[in-house]
Amino acid sequence: MNYLIFWGLLIGSFLLMEGMAWCIHRYIMHGFMWFWHKEHHQPPDRFLEKNDYFTLLFSLPSIIMLVLGYEVASLWFLKPMGYGILVYGFFYFVFHDLIVHRRIRFKFVAKNRYLRRIIRAHQIHHKTREREGAEAFGFLYAPQKYNPED
Ligand SMILES: [Zn+2]
Ligand SMILES: [Zn+2]
Repeated sequence: MNYLIFWGLLIGSFLLMEGMAWCIHRYIMHGFMWFWHKEHHQPPDRFLEKNDYFTLLFSLPSIIMLVLGYEVASLWFLKPMGYGILVYGFFYFVFHDLIVHRRIRFKFVAKNRYLRRIIRAHQIHHKTREREGAEAFGFLYAPQKYNPED
């Protein structure tokens, strides 16, 4: 397989996932699936939350694409796309669950401007406990206005 196409599809899927995640978060999690997401907007009181069902659910397309991509020769393009989603899921988890919500305790202070911007955006997202009225639905990208003032 042409490596350029492979990496193009992988990186393209990764970038597309941020847009997908924004839409899903904005219209589904803060929409008809709020009953899974609501707990994530309340002060945490247990290690696993209903919101984690989304993580499981969103790993499915990646798993299915990887299996089909490896098993069916004509569906080879699903392989890099499956990896793109997998890599997005990994960075999402590190950013959202570890760096922002510290579900596992570890020493890390973000000094990087980009990281501080996306962390601040997600903290602002969490200012509301309600389904309506939230802002900053993205995860790995946040507009300039969320830059921390320093
Ligand atoms: Zn939310
Ligand atoms: Zn969160």
